[in-house]
Amino acid sequence: MSESYELGIVGGGPAGAAAAIYAARKRLKTVFITSEWGGQSTVSTDVQNWIGTPSISGTELAANLRKHVEAYAGEWLTIVSPALATGLTTHDDRVEMTTNKGVFQAGAVLITTGANRRKLEVKGAAQYDQKGLTYCASCDGPLFADKDVAVIGGGNAAFETALQLLAYCKTVTLFNRTDTFRADAISVNAALTNPKMHVIKQSEILEVVGDKFITGLRWKDSQSGKEEVLPVEGIFVEIGLIPNTAWTGSAVEKNEIGQVKVDPRTHQASHPRIWAAGDCTDGLYHQNNIAAGDAVKALEDIYMALRRV
Ligand SMILES: Cc1cc2nc3c(=O)[nH]c(=O)nc-3n(C[C@H](O)[C@H](O)[C@H](O)COP(=O)(O)OP(=O)(O)OC[C@H]3O[C@@H](n4cnc5c(N)ncnc54)[C@H](O)[C@@H]3O)c2cc1C
Repeated sequence: MSESYELGIVGGGPAGAAAAIYAARKRLKTVFITSEWGGQSTVSTDVQNWIGTPSISGTELAANLRKHVEAYAGEWLTIVSPALATGLTTHDDRVEMTTNKGVFQAGAVLITTGANRRKLEVKGAAQYDQKGLTYCASCDGPLFADKDVAVIGGGNAAFETALQLLAYCKTVTLFNRTDTFRADAISVNAALTNPKMHVIKQSEILEVVGDKFITGLRWKDSQSGKEEVLPVEGIFVEIGLIPNTAWTGSAVEKNEIGQVKVDPRTHQASHPRIWAAGDCTDGLYHQNNIAAGDAVKALEDIYMALRRV
């Protein structure tokens, strides 16, 4: 027998947590399903832009989100955790969420399963993760003011990262695998006209080197085969996002990299009973505050859809 709810929220990062709190306060009968609490920035030692909190560790932020959601557990909010959603099936009158802890039915579903950054897989990358190597310029960039840094990647995210870093870093060297960039010409031009910007095309990253923290990046010129070490104190990796949306199957439309397509005004997805918010969507910008705010926006719209007479 599956259990039935007005709303199902899947994912326990800032987006899911924000939506769960709003849903319970609006007395929507909600099931909240998550594999873990807190989301991606849980690994950060210091989150400095969670509004209202000048500095907080990722683990403390996760614990706070959990505490806040659990404060509403009860008649209106059922928490199923740890639980992994593996399937999403749509029907005319409901949506069905399959998990490793059972099947749950709801009148509406909010997908907030976030994403994972594609990791740099070279020698030293795991060892120096958060010791100079980072996947988030908005989060960690200011720590590298007046320092030499490298950006790895050639898409829009890499160039946006470079542009942010150019504002305060001493030099920014961008490494691209091929001879051409995937990023929009406007971002590429803006970066390339800055005298602090350097670009190394057709390059292969070989190793992140350092002692306690990063001291450099060993790379190879793909054409000549020559190897060099560039001295840098920070490395920003922007080689792609992997949205956690495979479990949704064909229930909603996604873009070419698997992000759920949403209406930015309402966060409704392509199916009338499904919404999505946060890093799992095709929204342009991805941050904790944005995920939480967008999920609240979605929740307001879900409430109107479910309760409109
Ligand atoms: C290293 C790092 C540091 C960052 N630091 C900052 C920062 O300082 N400030 C900032 O604003 N942003 C930061 N970000 C970005 C920020 O973490 C994300 O924008 C934000 O976490 C997105 O929230 P979300 O709720 O959409 O998704 P996520 O945080 O990705 O959360 C997704 C949730 O869904 C759960 N989940 C996934 N799949 C399933 C499934 N199949 N079934 C059940 N549950 C599932 C996960 O366990 C997780 O709880 C950082 C990102 C990284 C990678």
